[in-house]
Amino acid sequence: MSSRLALFGGEPAVTRDDADPWPRFDRAEASLLMDVLHSRNWNYGPKCRELEETFARFQDAGFGLVCSGGTNALEAACRGAEIGVGDEVITSPFTFHGTCMGILAAGATVTFADIAPDTDNIDPDAIEAAITPRTKAIMVVHFGGLACDMRRIQTIADRHGLVVLEDACHGWGATYMEKGLGSWGLASGFSFQQSKNITSGEGGIALTNDEEVADRIGCVINSGRSRFDRAPAEMRWGGNHRMTDFTAAILLCQLKRVRQQTDIREQNAAMLSRTLSRFDGIEPVRRLPEATRASWHIYSARYAPDEFEGVSRERFLQALRAEGVPASGGYTEPVYRNPLFQNDWKAGAYRPYAWTTMDESPDYRNLHLPNVEAASADRIWLSQRALLATEERMKEVCLAFEKVGAHADELNTGNAA
Ligand SMILES: *Cc1c(COP(=O)(O)O)cnc(C)c1O
Repeated sequence: MSSRLALFGGEPAVTRDDADPWPRFDRAEASLLMDVLHSRNWNYGPKCRELEETFARFQDAGFGLVCSGGTNALEAACRGAEIGVGDEVITSPFTFHGTCMGILAAGATVTFADIAPDTDNIDPDAIEAAITPRTKAIMVVHFGGLACDMRRIQTIADRHGLVVLEDACHGWGATYMEKGLGSWGLASGFSFQQSKNITSGEGGIALTNDEEVADRIGCVINSGRSRFDRAPAEMRWGGNHRMTDFTAAILLCQLKRVRQQTDIREQNAAMLSRTLSRFDGIEPVRRLPEATRASWHIYSARYAPDEFEGVSRERFLQALRAEGVPASGGYTEPVYRNPLFQNDWKAGAYRPYAWTTMDESPDYRNLHLPNVEAASADRIWLSQRALLATEERMKEVCLAFEKVGAHADELNTGNAA
């Protein structure tokens, strides 16, 4: 290996091509898609039902309801739990904004509670501090597929009479105390969008163990009619967010691969963590011992410039990328910095329904949660795709970290000396 940084013209540490395209598929998907085509059952049908059963079982939940995407699944989870107008839902500000869109679509209001400093997940103490008389639910986000502290969160919820919901949009195949994510709360949502570990381009599923909740979720997805396999007991208000059998066919194939893929990601994440533990300045986020299996949608670590001669995270990432490591800096700001939460609510034509019904909308403009703001500035991420590398390639990725770490002083000057 060249000791000269690739950024300054040296040989990149990662020589093996990351040519493996995403998403992955083979003849299984092609064949099942053709089956659906010939079946002439192109809308919600047997493939969707098979996926609902298979995926619910895979995550240890009683009922699965497929839908158009993760955001819709989260809205359905809220409404299935009878969360709506006038209710507050506490959630994490370190997430894709779809978490909040789901809550807002249900008509509820979002309250942010800070993450813990050493994880990417919501801090149970911060949840407790954020509870008001209007709080009805806690929507946890299992960030990257590393489980939240579900026992403590459920205890807090029970003490205050709240419902726990799970944004498990990173949680396919992941467990807490050996039981699937998405099966712990009253209801949960998963995404199958293009970037996710199991994908059909778009798509989602809501899970619950409660049959009545499942019926209400069905209404949100299925034009106000109850669950797909039952006669409608009553009609509620709901949109059409149904999945088609084409989508379900792809997902049934993707689901067959995910166990093995998760094994690979777990091994690669462990290898990377062993390497990074040699640096004082890069610390993988803490994984709870109860997080018995992680899906590693994102591998996330804290970067401390002080331990690398003051080299900025962006400069360090630039050097890593030059070595062939597809690392990124993750979310640049907490969700509450999103313009939706920062603009004057009265001025916005498309303001969320909840806010139109309130005398005073929540004011997020002075909200500052220190841990999520620090995390937005100091994380280094590798995606699930990077974690799916062969062992040989992953060794090179680790070498790239060691190389850039050892030569960090050169990054300050930009000097190739
Ligand atoms: C992807 C994602 C969503 C939204 O899923 P869509 O399928 O894009 O609607 C919600 N929450 C998190 C944490 C996500 O990563």
